[in-house]
Amino acid sequence: MADDYYQILDVPRTASAEDIKKAFRKLARKHHPDVNPGNKAAEERFKQLNTAFEVLSDPKKRKLYDEFGEDAAKMGFDEKKADAYRAYRSARTGGRGEGMGGIPFSGGGVDFDLGDLFGDLFGRAGAGGGFDVGEVFGRRARPQGPEHGEDLTAQVTLSLAEAITGTERVLSIQRPGRCQRCQGRGETGHSGPCPTCKGTGRLRRSAGASFASACPTCNGTGRAAEDCPVCEGTGVAKETTRLTVKIPPGVQTGSKVRLGGQGAAGPHGGPPGDLYIETEVAEHPLVRREGDDLYMDLPVTISEAILGAEVKVPTFQGEVTVKVPPGSQSGRKMRLKGRGAPSLKAGPTGDLYLVLQVKVPEESSPEVKAAAETLARAYPRDVRQELKL
Ligand SMILES: [Zn+2]
Ligand SMILES: [Zn+2]
Repeated sequence: MADDYYQILDVPRTASAEDIKKAFRKLARKHHPDVNPGNKAAEERFKQLNTAFEVLSDPKKRKLYDEFGEDAAKMGFDEKKADAYRAYRSARTGGRGEGMGGIPFSGGGVDFDLGDLFGDLFGRAGAGGGFDVGEVFGRRARPQGPEHGEDLTAQVTLSLAEAITGTERVLSIQRPGRCQRCQGRGETGHSGPCPTCKGTGRLRRSAGASFASACPTCNGTGRAAEDCPVCEGTGVAKETTRLTVKIPPGVQTGSKVRLGGQGAAGPHGGPPGDLYIETEVAEHPLVRREGDDLYMDLPVTISEAILGAEVKVPTFQGEVTVKVPPGSQSGRKMRLKGRGAPSLKAGPTGDLYLVLQVKVPEESSPEVKAAAETLARAYPRDVRQELKL
């Protein structure tokens, strides 16, 4: 733990926002690197001041800092996890503890790891949740019952073609899974000295006078089931697994495919959460997507535009032959019904719009020039006649 932020700013814990600002300004001026060139200690102090001020000047961060300390304020606030911790804490001190003749249960300290509370538990697949009560509270908290496993989210990037026709992916997922060593029971099947009371069966708590009470973990026996060393009693351990995921046709960026029961294993034998596969669809160099409709430029020659033509066009559902009507202008849209993206909401499949692009020949030979001059004479009126602002 680094120095207390209140101490760094030299203010009481009850200081108002205004007091904190004043104290920071005063000290920051004093320790500013411009005022103390080359003074490493001042530079360090200046950094500390800024860190402390950043947290204490933000009401939300300050509250978090007051409750959970420095790491919590730095890592950001996860309401869900904090709630879970508060609920746990109040259950321990209020619920079970008061059953012991009103003496708050101290249990030799709670092993509470802020890294697990506020960070991701197991990398990317854990990004959706990752809070695992059993893991965080360690072996001392085991008497609670089965808990539901967290939902997890994994990301998959698809080409537009894959998104439209659907595809299958084999994903390697890291997740909290059922512990293989203990089959999720959390125990080795042997018993050992109770970790809460260190085998004494009694807990001492000093509060003016000294009280002793029966240890609630072992009910005073001093013996407790030995925790599985792999999962530390949670029944949940990190695993890497390969899953074949079917991506249905029509997904977009941000679509979620749910795989029921493939999330994190439930601590203490609880049911697993779900795994959500969030899709990201890459941009296509030729095809634009608007909802379920697709747009693609269709290059045609000047003669095809003038005379009309049957041209072959690739679509994601295979090649089709398209009739370009005679006298088509550049920019003309032609709709191919049902050649867009399938609807995810049981609506009709989108359409593919072809946008005609009249191409002039890249080389202008004497023949092309002669043809162009002939063409020029074919315009009955000025093509820019309507162009008035
Ligand atoms: Zn005990
Ligand atoms: Zn285990």
